[in-house]
Order: sequence, then C-alpha cells, then structure tokens
Amino acid sequence: MRVAPVEAFAGRIARLRQELAGATLDALVVTSLPNVAYLSGFFASAAALVVTTDRLALIGDGRYAETLAARARACAFVESIVIPPGVSYEDALVDVLSPFQGLRVGFEAAYLTVSRHRYLSERLTHRGWKAALVESVGLVERLRVRKDPWEIARLRDGAERLSAVTKCILPRIFAGRTEAEVAAELDSRLRSAGFERPAFDTIVASGPHSALPHARATARRIEEGDLVVVDVGGVLDGYCTDMTRTVTVGRAGERERRVIAQVAEAQAAAFAAVRPGGRPEAVDAAARHTLNDFGVGEAFSHGTGHGLGLEVHEAPRVTRARPGHDEPPLAAGMVLTIEPGVYFPGWGGARIEDDVLITDAGAEWLTDRRDP
Ligand code: ZN
Ligand code: ZN
Repeated sequence: MRVAPVEAFAGRIARLRQELAGATLDALVVTSLPNVAYLSGFFASAAALVVTTDRLALIGDGRYAETLAARARACAFVESIVIPPGVSYEDALVDVLSPFQGLRVGFEAAYLTVSRHRYLSERLTHRGWKAALVESVGLVERLRVRKDPWEIARLRDGAERLSAVTKCILPRIFAGRTEAEVAAELDSRLRSAGFERPAFDTIVASGPHSALPHARATARRIEEGDLVVVDVGGVLDGYCTDMTRTVTVGRAGERERRVIAQVAEAQAAAFAAVRPGGRPEAVDAAARHTLNDFGVGEAFSHGTGHGLGLEVHEAPRVTRARPGHDEPPLAAGMVLTIEPGVYFPGWGGARIEDDVLITDAGAEWLTDRRDP
C-alpha cells in the first residue's frame, strides 16, 4: 500500500493548525480512524492522534509498533507513542494531554463515545485539569473534502481499475448463476486488480431485488429478462471508488430498456450541473427534474451522490437541501459519485453510478462510461 509523500502530510497538518486557530483551539484529539490516516498515513484498526501548535503525537498499540516507528521515520514531525500492554488508549491519551492543563483542547464530538469522553474527562480532572474538553465537529473533514494531487491520482487509478473489473463482469451475468456467485467473482476480480478490499458489501440485485437500492447478493438465481444492478466499490491505497451498472439478461424488454435510458439521461443532466462554485443541491435537482419529466421522479428514492475518499460515503452529500445540514459549495478537487436510480417495488429497478472529479474548468468522469 502506497502512502502519500511527507510534504502532503506536512501540508495537511499546517492547514489543520489554521483550522484550530480559527476555532480558538490549542490542540485537537483525533479519534476518527480515517482522520488519523489522513493526517499521519497511519492506517490501523485502533489509533488516536493529538495535534497541537507544535506537536503531533500518534498513538497506537503494540500490534503496530513497527508501522508506528516507520511513520515517525518517514515524517520527522510525527512523534509515535506505542501503548504498553495492559494500558488503554484512554489512559495513553490522558498521559499525552496531562501537561496541556489550562489550554483549550478539542475532541471530535462525532467520533468519541459518551463513555470514553466521560472517562477521559474524569481522569484529566483527577490530574488537575480545571477546564473541560471542547466539542468540535468536522475540522479534519473540512480539509479532506478537497483532494490533493496525490489523492486524485489514487482515485483516478482506482476508478480505472474498477471500470475494468466491471467491464469484465457484465458479460458473466447470465441466467442460472446466483447473485452470490457473481458477487464472489467480482470480489475476487477486485483483489486481482490490485484493490486491498471491497469498499462495501458488493451488491448484485436481480429481478425484483433490483428494486431495493441497498439489496445484498443472495442465493437467487438470475433469470432471463431480469434487470440486474451491480454496485461495487474497491479500496486502493486507502481510497474508495464506487460504481454501478444495470444490465438486462438476455433480450431486454421495452420497459427495462426505457428505464435504463431514463436513468442514464438523469445522470448526464446531473453531470452537466457539476461546476466549481456550484451547489450540490443543484446537481441533485438536475437528476430529479429529468426523472420527474419522465414521470418516474417518485421512484427516485435516494440522493444523487456522495463524496469519495478515505471513506466510501463522505462530504459532499449530493442531495436535496436538508435543514440543519449545510453542504459546502462544490470546488475543484472534490471527488463524488453521480448515481441516480429508480425503483419499482415488486418489478425491479435501475441505477447507474460513476465517479466524477471537479476541476477548475468543470468536471471530468473518473470511471469509464463507455457502454460495455
Ligand atoms: Zn455504489
Ligand atoms: Zn455510491
């Protein structure tokens, strides 16, 4: 697995420090694992990180001693802390935070459980802290939303590989195979294509199952005439790509062909609405209007897309405006999916999903949209 060059991390930390200054924080405790990976290049199943104006303490347990040492060697500004056996992450954090008594120390409110927060607060008070930890939301996520050139290269590479995998699987969807067989073949092809893992449970939804946007691959045997929705994602160097194709098995019925064409048109309309400075809601509205005009708007039951990066669903959300959730305007460097779909319970459905990079000039498809 490749990790971004040291300059990339230095830049991310410098930008985070500006965010901290803006939020009048002296330090931030980072407990979201994708945020830890973004700031330090440390990918682990458990980790924590403390950023101050002049320190970056990366905390991991003994399983990762080698990796932590390697991160500290690669980035001179990373101070790696290996938790001794029998000591918890919380106690290790208390040790790092103890000397910061009197400073404003933020924590990620979306990623620290109530019980961990309570434990940390109690231990810090015990060590003489008078002030409370300060709630913060989205400080690192705000940086992650616009990808740097290294990240864009990973996502572009991932999208090309995912397109090739999808292209190979579509002719292998035929009557008599089960959804689970096709999904297993897809997962194996993802690995062969160089992906570390699937980005989510691969969806192969045939016949009436295709009417379920979040169907799982089941033991159902694919039948002649079925619509089949294949939604697959891969993780390459930590970065997620995501695409969906809908095909018919054997000779396509008139309604099936029409539905797929309508969704394709909605996707093209949404893409045409993507531009730096634009609104995510406008992209969603373009897809929705197109499907409304076809009289199938009611059957479009989810948002038009989502950001991609270290997580398969991240900012920006491309949906209708939601009260209390302000999405940032679209900007160059954002990578997102455009995935309109229509679903008719008991009959079937169709979704088409591709990945898009927003550029200074407009937008560019990352996945291969040429018909298989
Ligand atoms: Zn998808
Ligand atoms: Zn998606």
